[in-house]
Amino acid sequence: METYQQMDLFHDNNDLPAETVQADPRPPLTVTWNLWHGCKKVSPGCANCYMFRRDEEYGKDPTIVHKTSSFSLPVRKYRSGPYKGLHRIPAGSLIYTCFTSDFFIEEADDWRPEAWDMIRRRPDCSFFMITKRPNPG
Ligand code: SF4
Repeated sequence: METYQQMDLFHDNNDLPAETVQADPRPPLTVTWNLWHGCKKVSPGCANCYMFRRDEEYGKDPTIVHKTSSFSLPVRKYRSGPYKGLHRIPAGSLIYTCFTSDFFIEEADDWRPEAWDMIRRRPDCSFFMITKRPNPG
């Protein structure tokens, strides 16, 4: 049986101080955050994994798990321009994680604490996770 978990982590946006939300004039977005790429098949639900299919089409080994250039995306800020100082992802956004891997894959154990830390630093956003490893060791 496949397990899906939706995790609205640590917060409810209604609990945020008003100035936190009002300080960001941009509308919220729906964003994909692929922190790491690559995976290992763990369930029958992995049989038709699109990430495996796509990597193999491009001659890549989909079982090699590596950090991506998007790793720090939720905490990146503009350094100049009209939004200087604001996060690149607007307040109130919905952030989908790990569409080309699994957030709880063992190979990412060393990176996950930093990922949790970034999630904690964005209490103004919601994070959505789908995992086939609902009981990580
Ligand atoms: S857990 Fe997800 S990303 Fe990993 S092989 Fe299975 S379907 Fe693909």
